[in-house]
Amino acid sequence: MVLWYNSDEREGLGIMENFITANYHAHTFRCLHAQGTEQEYIEEAIRLGIREFGFSDHIPCPFKDGYVSGIRMTMDEARGYVETVRSLGERYRDYIKLYVGFEAEYIPEFYDEQMLMYYRLNCDYLILGQHFLCSEERGPYMGTKTDDESRIRSYVDTVIAAMEKGSYLYLAHPDLINYCGMDSVYDWEMTRLCRRMKELDIPLELNILGMGSGRNYPSERFWRIPGEIGNRVIVGLDAHSVAGIGDFASYGKCMAIAEKFHLNIINRLDI
Ligand SMILES: [Zn+2]
Ligand SMILES: [Zn+2]
Repeated sequence: MVLWYNSDEREGLGIMENFITANYHAHTFRCLHAQGTEQEYIEEAIRLGIREFGFSDHIPCPFKDGYVSGIRMTMDEARGYVETVRSLGERYRDYIKLYVGFEAEYIPEFYDEQMLMYYRLNCDYLILGQHFLCSEERGPYMGTKTDDESRIRSYVDTVIAAMEKGSYLYLAHPDLINYCGMDSVYDWEMTRLCRRMKELDIPLELNILGMGSGRNYPSERFWRIPGEIGNRVIVGLDAHSVAGIGDFASYGKCMAIAEKFHLNIINRLDI
């Protein structure tokens, strides 16, 4: 395999100019709704000139009632995931810096056990992706449309409480919450969220997967707000397949949002 291209070769291969060189958001086959092995992702990332790549597969949850999730690995499978990335990190160390962590919801009933696992496995980082406010068995998914004011308020309260724990590197897809009620409520709540993230110096993620798959995020209604507040913003691939790593079209659309709202884009993070 070719491990590195010079800039002329990159152009010849159609690799987008100014494409990201660091990404901390990727999933693997282990979460049961993504395709691709760690090694396949790594080789594609290297091919595209990415120098830092973090795996953040969905964190397992210690369900108490025997429930088995269809969208995440089990607690027992976490060690194999971490060890796989570690050994590949050694193997490809001359070409790319690899990190391993999880994308986690902050759910108080799971938090202590998840953090214990995180420290035992010596992981590098967590990102917060608040897909649910409580166990996924009980729902609802935050991307489901709602005009219920209490849901957006609870979403913002939960994200703020999570970030005050100090355990998470950044906030993935802050605009996941699909509130379609009054603009005044949306603006009030999301301004409250962005102000607190700014005080805590937590970057917000502009999500490529959401753009590519036509989800409710990234949403212009949201990104106007961090544009005004001046939050730090990082692009996250949220790759669920090898092809999702080089989604140049969605990256271009995200950069158009960044330009439109004068977002304070950062290119990498210290881990
Ligand atoms: Zn997510
Ligand atoms: Zn994700």
